[in-house]
Amino acid sequence: MVQNYTFSRSNKNSIVWACSSRHASRCEAKVKIDKDGTLVYHLLTHNHPPPKYHVTNTGDYIKIKPIDYKIIKSSRGKLVMVQGYTFSSPNKQSIVWTCSSRNSNRCTAKVKIDRQGTLACDNLAHNHPPPKYHITDTGVYVKI
Ligand SMILES: [Zn+2]
Ligand SMILES: [Zn+2]
Repeated sequence: MVQNYTFSRSNKNSIVWACSSRHASRCEAKVKIDKDGTLVYHLLTHNHPPPKYHVTNTGDYIKIKPIDYKIIKSSRGKLVMVQGYTFSSPNKQSIVWTCSSRNSNRCTAKVKIDRQGTLACDNLAHNHPPPKYHITDTGVYVKI
């Protein structure tokens, strides 16, 4: 790991480590580490933000995948849809979106979306099945 970016090499004898995002982001960044473990060369211009990692109890790094979401229009205003569930935000400044069913089902599921638009999963454990929506011709989601 160099400056929060991770690199991997194509084979065990290679001293060239290429950015782990070279396929996903076509990133050209790479480092060379010689047999003594010295960083001898680096090209650290990435075309993407560093991946987010979660360190487990055993010291393993697990890449946190950004969660896919979409912003939808509904009869009740803007909603965020994650894994088929919808979330609403109390106001425009809030980064916390709570499950649309929090009142009807006392669901405590919520997500956070930061200013960069990255969704951080806070609690995706719903106590109810995902709501069913009908999408109108104008793209508005109407709860069935
Ligand atoms: Zn990179
Ligand atoms: Zn819920």
